[in-house]
Amino acid sequence: MSTSKSGTLGSHLWDSSDLYRNSVLQLQEAADVMRLDPNVAERLKVPKRALIVSVPIRLDNGNIKVFEGYRVQHNMTLGPGKGGIRFHPEVNLSEVAGLAMLMTFKCSLVGLPLGGAKGGIRVDPTQLSRQEAQSLTRRYTTEINMIIGPDKDIPAPDVGTDAQHMAWMMDTFSQERGFAIPGVVTGKPVEVGGSLGRAESTGRGVVYTIQHAAKHLAATGQQGPKIDSSTTVAVHGFGKVGAVAALEIFNLGTKVIAVSDISGGLYNKNGLNIPEVIKYFTKNRTLVGYPEAELISNEELLAVNCDVLIPAAIDGVITKDNVSRVKAKIIAEGANGPITNEALKELEERGVFIIPDVLCNAGGVIVSYFEWVQGIQNLFWSETEVNARLAEVMATAFKKVMDVQSRHRCGMKTAALISGVERLAKAMLLRGLFP
Ligand code: NAD
Repeated sequence: MSTSKSGTLGSHLWDSSDLYRNSVLQLQEAADVMRLDPNVAERLKVPKRALIVSVPIRLDNGNIKVFEGYRVQHNMTLGPGKGGIRFHPEVNLSEVAGLAMLMTFKCSLVGLPLGGAKGGIRVDPTQLSRQEAQSLTRRYTTEINMIIGPDKDIPAPDVGTDAQHMAWMMDTFSQERGFAIPGVVTGKPVEVGGSLGRAESTGRGVVYTIQHAAKHLAATGQQGPKIDSSTTVAVHGFGKVGAVAALEIFNLGTKVIAVSDISGGLYNKNGLNIPEVIKYFTKNRTLVGYPEAELISNEELLAVNCDVLIPAAIDGVITKDNVSRVKAKIIAEGANGPITNEALKELEERGVFIIPDVLCNAGGVIVSYFEWVQGIQNLFWSETEVNARLAEVMATAFKKVMDVQSRHRCGMKTAALISGVERLAKAMLLRGLFP
């Protein structure tokens, strides 16, 4: 049988988002460089399973509103699906499928016995009351309940959701079965079986990879920043990933000269006091109005003259239209897919050191895995132990990607994908095709 359109670019169902199309193109590039079995590549270009659900809730004003929700399982060869739940007004099936694909490669790259999945609801979470957010989360959990579970697929927080949403998901899933099942989600509050260090893990991991990148550049005689008081950093997105990354890199003595969230950015050429910015943000729920900084736009933040740029908000923010203005020497992809393929090519040609998302932000899923393992054993680790294990896994993964990069003489993005796909492809070939 001839290869259908789905064999090259994904089927009409998945193809509508840039994130999905970019992920498939990146996979194809990695497949070409590593000479991946084309039958494996064919299977990896589309998700295994996707569920679209209607999520009706009663709003505080008494009216019923129906939201659209998704859960996509991309590949579960290595173990249960794993991936966050995104609450965002523009999320759609294709974007969730692209994010699920990235989760597959991320879990494989860092050596976890987990597959890739992702979920989402098309909603603006800032417009929901706490009660509405709870109703939405619980009803969504019920609607996807038949495909999630500690041995099947384990959600976690993503954009617009946090530990509280995970507690509601865990409670709903447990109520429906009659006993507590904490292992159905990770990123839960510590009080209901969460792991110490999970909330900080993604941002912390981002900063570990920046330290490795700086050491690598120095060790290989390439020009690049050190991570010290001479280093300037800009962070795009000030949520669970961005704010922690900003704090961690501030604590290493660098100057964080710019941070931003959806409402805009702050700039201070002498460095922002990040603990104070976090205090201000926690109190006011916005960065706007923080003293001792100039207000800048998100576009201006991306173009700030800095050594290290951490895009940690959403995908597709560095594009062919603004890439020529980006001046950073290291870009650490805290977010998933923040750089489009065209922009990536230009940055690589300019010699910018890119730390790809599947490596850079893997700290979250690594500590999610630790949370799941601790829950199964009912034996909980100290935060020091969690962080030490996280550092070890991230160091191994960074080295693996650099080895692949030097073996294939390819870009970092391709090297990271190859590092993820290699192990997975072996497992897929060993398991074979059912029936
Ligand atoms: P979050 O909701 O906690 O924070 C998102 C931040 O981005 C907020 O500060 C928000 O104001 C800002 N933002 C949203 N849209 C923006 C825009 N258009 N321009 C500028 N800023 C904007 O989400 P998060 O969990 O920090 O996730 C951020 C990114 O990191 C996402 O791409 C997510 O998939 C990825 N990620 C998260 C985790 C995790 O553990 N939370 C793990 C791996 C990857």
